[in-house]
Amino acid sequence: MKYTITVLKGDGIGPEITDQALAVLKAAGDKYGISFELREELMGGCAIDEYGIPLPEVTLKACKESDAVLLGAVGGPKWEELPRSKTPEAGLLGIRAGLGLYANLRPAVIYEALRDASPLKSEIIGDKIDILVVRELTGGIYFGERGRSDTGTENESAYDTERYSVAEIERIAAIAFEAASKRSGIVTSVDKANVLESSKLWREVVIRKAREYPNIVLNHLYVDNAAMQLVRNPRQFDVILTSNMFGDILSDEASMITGSIGMLPSASLGNGALGLYEPIHGSAPDIAGMNKANPIAAILSTAMMLRYSFKQYAAADAIEDAVRRVLEKGYRTADIASAGNTVTETSEMGELVVREVLLKQ
Ligand code: NAD
Repeated sequence: MKYTITVLKGDGIGPEITDQALAVLKAAGDKYGISFELREELMGGCAIDEYGIPLPEVTLKACKESDAVLLGAVGGPKWEELPRSKTPEAGLLGIRAGLGLYANLRPAVIYEALRDASPLKSEIIGDKIDILVVRELTGGIYFGERGRSDTGTENESAYDTERYSVAEIERIAAIAFEAASKRSGIVTSVDKANVLESSKLWREVVIRKAREYPNIVLNHLYVDNAAMQLVRNPRQFDVILTSNMFGDILSDEASMITGSIGMLPSASLGNGALGLYEPIHGSAPDIAGMNKANPIAAILSTAMMLRYSFKQYAAADAIEDAVRRVLEKGYRTADIASAGNTVTETSEMGELVVREVLLKQ
């Protein structure tokens, strides 16, 4: 099998971690008879420098023509002062909307070998933590109407709008229920229905949609309580279904309980097989170019690509197993290292995972 992948390395640590992810993907491809045609394009700050805009037409076109997109990370201080529509982050929102990727899947799993890296006590972690955050990605307040009035006066004010339609809620709820049916079957829908009208509609529609999935247990939490429960008793969660902004915040929190934001991959999906795969972290300008970043989130993003877009389950498992074995052998990048570990650089961590993929029986 051959698949076309558009690669958007982006800014900051994006190129360093993506190079390692591609090396691991190639190793898995070699092992399982899958080949990849890679097409590299610019997105984010690097595209602003080259084309003056964060998401050039040529990039979006390449993505649309691909089987999948692999993204590193975008953004950095150099582009922070630009008008909002010209920032690297605008490119990120643009690509999600342009490709119709309305569902963001963010697994948060604590590896046994990384127990010590989690800020949670061992008794709170228990046997395991394995949460899937299903975040709506192309609606809500990040895409709603916004503006300012009385600019420059002492009465200046600004607003953003949270708006969700029934259809938007139904389709993301369906993704969460489908995902839960292949896991432990529990969906926790997170909203702020005690205050927000958009959340009231969210809850009504989720309850209605759940009737199509009689085997799923559906719970509801307000977002403030959910943030607290994630650190108090994270084992109660299987699939968390939530809106764009709440999902953005809760998945960062979930990432930290697994040890480091450098560990968590994500998949952004729409109605077809095309998906965009990226680590959940940003471009980490503070460590960019130092060969210090953890490439595991990017590496695990390629496993998600193999699983969700290509249905190459054995190759996906091989990558995830390889990461687990490297961690079990005590290798760590600086962000997840504790006493007794062998601290590796970004490139060495990539090489170790490649070696484990190739060694797999
Ligand atoms: P960040 O995720 O880049 O960094 C937060 C902290 O985590 C930093 O201390 C960083 O060094 C560390 N970190 C992140 N990834 C790491 C990794 N792989 N290994 C080790 N440590 C890692 O978040 P930020 O500092 O808030 O944002 C930096 C830039 O990234 C901003 O321009 C922001 O807008 C952008 N951003 C982009 C994306 C994306 O491309 N999807 C997501 C979030 C933020």
